[in-house]
Amino acid sequence: MISKKILRQISLKEKIAIVTGAVSGIGFGIAKRLAEAGANVALLDINDEKGREAEEEIRRIGVKAKFYRCDVTSSFQCKETVEKVFRDFGKIDILVNNAGVIVRKDVVETSEKEWDFVLGVNLKGVYLVSRYVIPYMAKTGGGSIINIGSGWGLKGGPKAAAYCASKGGVVNLTRAMAIDHGRQGIRVNCVCPGDIDTPLLRSEAAQLGVNLDEFLKEAADRPINRVGRPEDVANAVLYLASDLSSWVTGAIIVVDGGGLA
Ligand code: NAP
Repeated sequence: MISKKILRQISLKEKIAIVTGAVSGIGFGIAKRLAEAGANVALLDINDEKGREAEEEIRRIGVKAKFYRCDVTSSFQCKETVEKVFRDFGKIDILVNNAGVIVRKDVVETSEKEWDFVLGVNLKGVYLVSRYVIPYMAKTGGGSIINIGSGWGLKGGPKAAAYCASKGGVVNLTRAMAIDHGRQGIRVNCVCPGDIDTPLLRSEAAQLGVNLDEFLKEAADRPINRVGRPEDVANAVLYLASDLSSWVTGAIIVVDGGGLA
């Protein structure tokens, strides 16, 4: 039997979570796992149709869920959306900065537009949503922010210059935020996934012009011999969102089947 104490510590009942990039891949996996632990979830993303479907699926778990169309690169949309979430749910306890994009090009091939696009979503988006959420969290006694980085935020990778720069930024921004906001009761941590089977990962094979099956086979070549699943990342996020990690902040947790080991 699992003790009531452990269940209480892992439970997110009555908590309000915002997940960005929440209607696809890892973000949707995270939203589902937080809902399964009892959290009500605000789903932020740019795809209305998938947003409505995701909202329905999360509601079926038995919690409140609402989709908000929000481009994380727009300061105006982030501010307005965070205010709406606070009005709708009354507080914000958990923020998962997950929205992300990738362009598989080296520095010479990367246009300025592509550089700004990748840095805009992956790094500026984390800054913007956090900027508007933190004052609400502080007002209600604190919270937990989880930034989704990447193994390529800790080491370089081929033909992904802007992506590697953005994720390196997310890793160190996490540490800076943890230092600045710990005394407000806000913990800030980062999960760095390895290759997870999502539309983003599959798009990389197309961008590089390589065979998808070969690409996925290569991605599975790591100590734990498979490609990751969204729930592998979501379980680490659940730990960081819950009271089980109440003395953990500024940490970088690698979830990659041993790829970086
Ligand atoms: P995904 O399946 O493409 O999901 C990302 C979601 O974010 C999509 O719904 C996407 O919408 C949305 N999004 C894109 N731009 C946005 C914006 N400006 N504002 C709000 N939402 C936006 O990707 P994923 O693989 O789950 O990736 C999630 C996170 O994990 C990313 O930060 C990624 O870098 C990181 N990660 C992934 C892997 C992996 O192997 N999959 C490995 C390491 C780290 P659209 O589909 O319309 O663009």
